[in-house]
Amino acid sequence: MAQIIIKNLRKDFGDFTAVQSSSFTIEDGEFFMLLGPSGCGKTTTLRMIAGLELPTSGEIFIDGEEVSQKPASQRDIAFVFQMFALYPHLNVRQNISYPLKSQRMPSAQIKTKVAEVARVLGIEDILNKPVGGLSGGDRQRVALGRAIVRDPKAFLMDEPLGALDAEFREHMSQELRALHDRMGATTVYVTHDQLEAMQMGDKIVVMNHGSVEQFGVPQQIYDWPATLFVADFIGSPQMNLLPFNATVAEGDTSVALSGHHFEIPRLRQAASGDLIFGVRPEHVTLDQSSAFRGNVTAVEYLGTTQIITLETPNGMVKARVAAAQTVKTGQDIGLGFTARTITIFDVSTGAALLSDANREVLDHG
Ligand code: ATP
Repeated sequence: MAQIIIKNLRKDFGDFTAVQSSSFTIEDGEFFMLLGPSGCGKTTTLRMIAGLELPTSGEIFIDGEEVSQKPASQRDIAFVFQMFALYPHLNVRQNISYPLKSQRMPSAQIKTKVAEVARVLGIEDILNKPVGGLSGGDRQRVALGRAIVRDPKAFLMDEPLGALDAEFREHMSQELRALHDRMGATTVYVTHDQLEAMQMGDKIVVMNHGSVEQFGVPQQIYDWPATLFVADFIGSPQMNLLPFNATVAEGDTSVALSGHHFEIPRLRQAASGDLIFGVRPEHVTLDQSSAFRGNVTAVEYLGTTQIITLETPNGMVKARVAAAQTVKTGQDIGLGFTARTITIFDVSTGAALLSDANREVLDHG
């Protein structure tokens, strides 16, 4: 298995730059997510790692070896295109052994390898069945088996669960992650689904317009979005982003929203003009003593919690609070914010004004 290093990777298609100056490291054995909206350059990045697309500039290292200009066949990486893409005229065993036959591996060795893979995937009992009649889950396992059997340095997966309905998708994502944990194989997984990325990934790279917006473990990305784009893209309901206008200095530990002062983590950068006060719904508290007030426009009951939507002088705020709190539409409520969870963004750069407290993962309990 392998470590993959991406350095200043760029890909131009004619005048259009699909990926620009991307740099990140995928550690050996990691389940690594490439996350971003449609068209942000995820697939192009994955295809460059696979060798199916050559970079315009930049470097890719697999296990310390520079492979940027090498063809796919010399990279020893398995690209799981679409889990349902099986050879329909072959049975399960033949589908899984196909890559080994192409490598001209002796048949006794193929038999042992296929048996091993079938055991890992729990599909020993269907090895002699035609793939045509298999359930969706079994087809997916067979497709995975065909990738695993080669024992490649890494697996690359491009939205492998994209075509599945929500329930089955959830089931297969857990199965994929469990399989990864058993095998410890470096896996690079493309998705546009932030929840899938958060649930499955050891690390996430968030991409937008061909650039890396942020790179880190899921909790860092959730707790401390480095840019407004990430703040908006990650989380459901998304982070509250309240615009305000102010001049802040390095070292500041409070800001004023509509004349009301709120404590924040110490700022590391100064800024002036249009700023954004970012706070996640679970860090908004209903506090009748607060002079910063909002009018309740909606109450969404979710069982143990409820999402309260309020109109405030700085725009709409969503609060996730215990379902036991009685809140009614039309009510006027004071709001508080958990100081150490606040992120301040500079609208002109889109970047967070990093604070001392950032980088420490928060306790959401
Ligand atoms: P999606 O989830 O929709 O596939 P993505 O993030 O994977 O999105 P890419 O497929 O990497 O995005 O595409 C990034 C951009 O590059 C898109 O605007 C796409 O149209 C463009 N692009 C990709 N391949 C080519 C190509 N061969 N020629 C020209 N433009 C391309």
